[in-house]
Amino acid sequence: MTVPLRPAALSLSAATVPSQPAAVRSASPPPTAASSGVRTWVRRLWRGGQVTESCPSWCASAHANDENGALDDLVHVSSEAVMHLPVWDAEHGTLAMPVLSARISVHPYSETSTWRIPHVTLEPWQDEVMECLDPAEFAAVIAQVRAHCDRLDGVLARLVAARAECGGS
Ligand SMILES: [Zn+2]
Repeated sequence: MTVPLRPAALSLSAATVPSQPAAVRSASPPPTAASSGVRTWVRRLWRGGQVTESCPSWCASAHANDENGALDDLVHVSSEAVMHLPVWDAEHGTLAMPVLSARISVHPYSETSTWRIPHVTLEPWQDEVMECLDPAEFAAVIAQVRAHCDRLDGVLARLVAARAECGGS
C-alpha cells in the first residue's frame, strides 16, 4: 500500500480519484466533499462553539462520532496496511491474526507537538502498539522486518536441505 506520509496539497489526481472505500464515503454523518475535493464538516464543541474541520487527503475516517466533542478529540486516520497470518488456535484451529498493521494518524489539536504532525502507529501484533513513529523511525522498523525476512529465507533453505537429507521433499 502506498500512502503519503504527510498531507499533500490537493493535486488533480487526489481530487479526481476517490481514495476512501465506499463505506467511508457513505457513512453518516458524512463529512462533505467540496468541489475542491477536501472533505469538510462542522464539529460542535462541548465547551461551546463550533469549528469547521477539513480532512487531509489521505484520511479514511468516516468521523461518524465526531459531530460533537472536545476540541482535542479529533484524529484523522488513514486506511490500514495489514497482513494476516493463520495462527494456531485451540478453539478455531487457526485464526487469522493481524501482523504489522500500520496506519497514519494526526491529532491536529493535541498538546503534544509530535502528534500534531502525521505519524505512523504500528501494531507489530494484535493489541501491542508502537505509537507515533516518524518517517526515520518507521523506516528503521521496515529495515528490521526486511532483514528478518532474509533470515527467514535462510531458515527456508535449511529446511529444504534438512528434508532432502532425510529423503523428504
Ligand atoms: Zn479526517
